[in-house]
Amino acid sequence: MLTARIKQIKPSPTLAIDTKAKAMLAQGIDIVNFGIGEPDFDTPENIKEAAIKAIRDGFTRYTPVGGIPELKEAIVQKFKRDNSLAYKHEEIIVGCGGKHALYNLFQVLFEKGHEVIVPTPYWVSYPPMLQLADATPVIVPTPEANGFKLTPEVLKAHLTPRTKGLILNSPSNPTGSVYSREELAALAEVILAHKLLVVSDDIYEKILFDGQQFVNLAQLDPELKKLTFILNGVSKTYAMTGWRIGYLAGDATVIKAMTNLQSQSTSNPTSIAQKAAAEAISGPQDTVDRMVTEFAWRRDDILARLAKIPGVECVKPGGAFYVFPNFAHYYQKIKADKEGSYSDPLANYLLEEAHVALVAGIGFGEDKCIRFSYATSRERIATGLERIQGALDKLA
Ligand code: PMP
Ligand code: GLU
Repeated sequence: MLTARIKQIKPSPTLAIDTKAKAMLAQGIDIVNFGIGEPDFDTPENIKEAAIKAIRDGFTRYTPVGGIPELKEAIVQKFKRDNSLAYKHEEIIVGCGGKHALYNLFQVLFEKGHEVIVPTPYWVSYPPMLQLADATPVIVPTPEANGFKLTPEVLKAHLTPRTKGLILNSPSNPTGSVYSREELAALAEVILAHKLLVVSDDIYEKILFDGQQFVNLAQLDPELKKLTFILNGVSKTYAMTGWRIGYLAGDATVIKAMTNLQSQSTSNPTSIAQKAAAEAISGPQDTVDRMVTEFAWRRDDILARLAKIPGVECVKPGGAFYVFPNFAHYYQKIKADKEGSYSDPLANYLLEEAHVALVAGIGFGEDKCIRFSYATSRERIATGLERIQGALDKLA
């Protein structure tokens, strides 16, 4: 009954682990949930108030398909303020979450015969979304010693006449790695020479530590801006994962095509959530700073705790709220699954034995590692790491 297209698609592993962890919680099992990537903070009050006001004002009808002018203006001003980038309203589309905007972008940009470079470790949804657009994801391993970042040499080695695009995600999910201006400039030479379309997934832009300045490719050069599509949203920055608002900026022809697609599928994102997102982006930003300070503390804490586990190594994240430690040391003590993965059985063992939910690295294209989302309290981080240590000791 099912199409070949959908048969190749598996459930998102990040959402699958969350479902499993929540089912165990519902059975009364005390799970430490390092699974899903969503801030554990509540949506700030001013944002909630904007939504409540929208409901009271009767702002409950269809809106323009690609977003209300008020929200598009807030996004335009955000790009100007934070990234020194000038966009017009027709170069912006608002979708039902960043995921939706990305899906629609891939449908519009890529098709059969197109190869798109996806550096590993990648966010779980890029390859399936590309497959759903009939394009070919070209999975490109990046050196762990280089913080799992793509280098111009590695990029060049994977280019073919069919290469159409490249996905970059900084700060990265799952590694937390951040590209510096110099690293992007080095990649830019290859990108410009081959006129690659770049998808810059900036969703963790604001969750950046150690006083770093965020930079993306579009900011480097006007020619690069023409080739770049920037994805961003309110889910992570404003603890608004359930509101489902994301946005994308880039070439007006592409945005128009995405709007057409959206007009034939979802129509507008929720009217109320759009009002809330406008307040999030243009209102006071102090809650973001507080959240980032807390995430920075937790990053240091979890790194220190991981460092005490024998054989575990971890790239130091510069942003986002993930760590992606290498657990390969323990793989000799477990059996691989049918697909040859070790990270999945180890993550399952830790869920069953230690009651700690983690996402296996295999879903991110890097089986040596396991992802922790440390968007959970300091106390739960301490408990979770103690339990993991105990369960790993039992393996020895
Ligand atoms: N990109 C990355 C790297 C992510 O981690 C997420 C989180 N789901 C998204 C995009 C999309 O987020 P959302 O759909 O909640 O805007
Ligand atoms: N991006 C988050 C994660 O990686 C949310 C889940 C998802 O959309 O995949 O856990």
